[in-house]
Amino acid sequence: MSKPVSIKDLEDGKLINKPVHVFGWVKTFRSNRFISLNDGSMINDIQCVIDLQSSEVDINQINTGASIEVYGKLVESLGKGQKFEILVDQLNVLGSSNPDNYPIQPKKHSFEFLRENAHLRIRTKTISSVMRIRSEISYAIHKFFNENGFFYVHTPIITGSDAEGAGEMFSVSSLDKSKIPMDNDGSIDFSKDFFGKETHLTVSGQLEAEALAMGLSKVYTFGPTFRAENSNTSRHLAEFWMIEPEMAFCDLTENINLAEKFIKYIIKHTYDKCKNDIEFLNERLTKEEMNLPKDKRSELSLKEKIEFVINNDFVKLSYSEAFDILKNCKRNKKNKFTYKIENWGCDFQSEHERFLVEKHFKCPVVVYDYPAKIKAFYMRLNEDGKTVRAMDILFPGIGEIVGGSQREERLDVLEKRIEELDIDDKELWWYLDLRKYGSVKHSGFGLGLERLILFITGMNNIRDVIPFPRTPKNADF
Ligand code: ATP
Ligand code: MN
Repeated sequence: MSKPVSIKDLEDGKLINKPVHVFGWVKTFRSNRFISLNDGSMINDIQCVIDLQSSEVDINQINTGASIEVYGKLVESLGKGQKFEILVDQLNVLGSSNPDNYPIQPKKHSFEFLRENAHLRIRTKTISSVMRIRSEISYAIHKFFNENGFFYVHTPIITGSDAEGAGEMFSVSSLDKSKIPMDNDGSIDFSKDFFGKETHLTVSGQLEAEALAMGLSKVYTFGPTFRAENSNTSRHLAEFWMIEPEMAFCDLTENINLAEKFIKYIIKHTYDKCKNDIEFLNERLTKEEMNLPKDKRSELSLKEKIEFVINNDFVKLSYSEAFDILKNCKRNKKNKFTYKIENWGCDFQSEHERFLVEKHFKCPVVVYDYPAKIKAFYMRLNEDGKTVRAMDILFPGIGEIVGGSQREERLDVLEKRIEELDIDDKELWWYLDLRKYGSVKHSGFGLGLERLILFITGMNNIRDVIPFPRTPKNADF
């Protein structure tokens, strides 16, 4: 008996005319003779051909969705659409499937329907392609940092500080909800809770990563992140994965350059390694866009967009320059933005970010030196006293993909900012300590994994690039 192989192992033809043994799930079964079989190892199915006279097979159980095991010989295929096929000697049904109620029929399903069947949608070509790409991107992220002298660190998921200021937090508690201990003043007595204080799920590992960078110099985190933001957009999840490098002895310019190099590396690596999947997604998107009116279609295909990003420098400009462009553009003057750009200091909405990227520059854009008022307390104050060394990287079709900054390393300036913003600093004593003992300039950024996957796969909704999405009113599976 030959050792079982993955369907991917059949692709290069090395096993031609040899006995092979594969497993998989039946996609389709035609003419009582042709099975399309897939095991997830690659996008293409292998065709298994049954000769009822010579093989031992009970064909009644070969239904879409069933799992089977096939023994046979790999031969060149005479049919169109595949190079090789398996002539079946023996076939065993491992798990049957009822063809009448198996949800993933061999036809086009809407993404909404597939989300309701998130436990089975991995068996579709689109979702399995996305998940293979997600895996390759994750690998490339570790590879990049490893090759560039970074250490992978693990920052806590449960956090005692709510000063990160990156959004609404989920609380973590082991108190019995039916008898919550109260203080005399009517507030919850968290001293009786598990940690003896109020705790939350982290919205960012940055503050702890800063501490670790002040000894390891170059670190990164890559883990789950939680934000209870009640915004039902196609770009936000309540649970997402974030990559956060943090570098000592590094200023904002070096930070931006690293981010650009990093993003290009990941995209190029994935583009080279996931050719079949990206080819499939490219065609999917092109077909889908054919249904849109001409002016809504993208000028570039998915592959062209990817190549463009790999091969072109990101545009870099300050907030003030971006503000002028937006304020003076026709769309703003004709009141075509939902939020009109009027006064310096306003935060850009995603409509503005996308205008800059998609209409004005037609290129990924880095905006830096934002007004201090709209950014977090830890960002380094510029000499002008009103802007901070922040940067956002904006991508076509997505908007913000990276948010980062040079951190305030001067104790007195940081303390003043904390006071001005009226932030409760009792949880921040250790963060301030970092500015007392060997403080150095340092910088870092956060990249949302799912937003990068959206870009590389051309998918429209962030719920379709994570296996089991967590969004408002939805934590099934
Ligand atoms: P946005 O304005 O899009 O909500 P943000 O300013 O809150 O983003 P940061 O706090 O800078 O984002 O977080 C860093 C990165 O994490 C973002 O650039 C984005 O890629 C990603 N990100 C932030 N919030 C979410 C979310 N809810 N779901 C998925 N990714 C997110
Ligand atoms: Mn946000």
